[in-house]
Amino acid sequence: MTYDSSLDIALQRLHDEGRYRTFIDVERERGNFPHAVRTKPDGSKQDVTIWCGNDYLGMGQHPVVLKAMHEAIDATGAGSGGTRNISGTTVYHKRLEAELSDLHHKEDALLFTSAYIANDATLSTLPKIFPGLVILSDSLNHASMIEGIRRNGGAKSIFKHNDLDDLRAKLEAVPANLPKLIAFESIYSMDGDFAPIEAILDLADEYNALTYIDEVHAVGMYGPRGGGVAERDGLMGRIDIINGTLAKAYGVMGGYIAASAKMCDAIRSYAPGFIFTTSLPPAVAAGAAASVAHLKTDTALRQQHQDGAAALKLRLKGLGMPLIDNGTHIVPVHVGDPVKCKMISDRLLDDFGIYVQPINFPTVPRGTERLRFTPSPVHGPEQVDALVNALDMLWSHCALNRAELAG
Ligand code: PLP
Repeated sequence: MTYDSSLDIALQRLHDEGRYRTFIDVERERGNFPHAVRTKPDGSKQDVTIWCGNDYLGMGQHPVVLKAMHEAIDATGAGSGGTRNISGTTVYHKRLEAELSDLHHKEDALLFTSAYIANDATLSTLPKIFPGLVILSDSLNHASMIEGIRRNGGAKSIFKHNDLDDLRAKLEAVPANLPKLIAFESIYSMDGDFAPIEAILDLADEYNALTYIDEVHAVGMYGPRGGGVAERDGLMGRIDIINGTLAKAYGVMGGYIAASAKMCDAIRSYAPGFIFTTSLPPAVAAGAAASVAHLKTDTALRQQHQDGAAALKLRLKGLGMPLIDNGTHIVPVHVGDPVKCKMISDRLLDDFGIYVQPINFPTVPRGTERLRFTPSPVHGPEQVDALVNALDMLWSHCALNRAELAG
């Protein structure tokens, strides 16, 4: 056995299972989203429409965001030049944290380089602060939460996805004197379903547990000021730690938690993922702050986004596509086979210039492979028509089933 042959075996395994991932090289065109130019493997160019981006509201090209980023670069240069503790805290970082704590009505917020790092760093640090902590984690939580919980040295208990009876049973099984934390998401991005947030918070109250919510697929898009589903439902004040991203609806990059001043202070002081890494470039923080501030008032854009998602779902349902509809802005279409899923994605791209990445294991369970569309306010009627017609044609051509999956 050589090192090389181990690499060959590992890669071949993915090919054999039909889940080897290839990058699609795209360059988005500012002012012309969701249009992009793809560079094919042979170096030739192709016009494409991106249907799987997470820039849910098109804020990545918004003039307010770009202006803030240009101004910051001109004023202060490219990088931050340090970790937060060693010269890397700037007025831009502080301003963004103030925007975020205001967004969630929390005393403070703490920036990380991504929401992945925010989840991983926070959840892996909490047992150092609360000795004996047991984390109760939804079985469909994102990989970043799983990783943080897995290597934190504390105890964990996984409850069935969105299952309140199971959560209660798991809470019941933890000795009453131990500290507990319930970790869950507001919107699960692969099925696009909501968590029963209020009922989870009621259980947390009953069992004296802390709560941690990942609102990555909701911030900017839900709630009167874009504070997420918890804001929409009037529940932010009952949640101890709110996690969000600046890379999806806010169109830039970075992640954060919002919590009490003491909680942020403790995470800031103990989390290696916060302490030992260079802070975000000031221009990124400036763009994100402009985006968060803008979306506190742009309810029309939020509405347009919801309307666009509802319209696409209606069209796909009309064709009898196996849509997984759980009432959110995410539009997953079930294929159920990794090879077919990749084949449809390839045909959409090569024949129709429609880019949607196949979603395979381990992102979703085997046998539930899907195409996951993310309509946004920048997708116009022509793009929707082109997508719906292409899917209709391919579904017939590949003799795929059209039965609707209940959400
Ligand atoms: N949490 C969830 C639920 C996600 O889906 C993702 C990314 O897709 C993340 C966290 C990580 O976010 P970021 O891209 O900011 O690292």
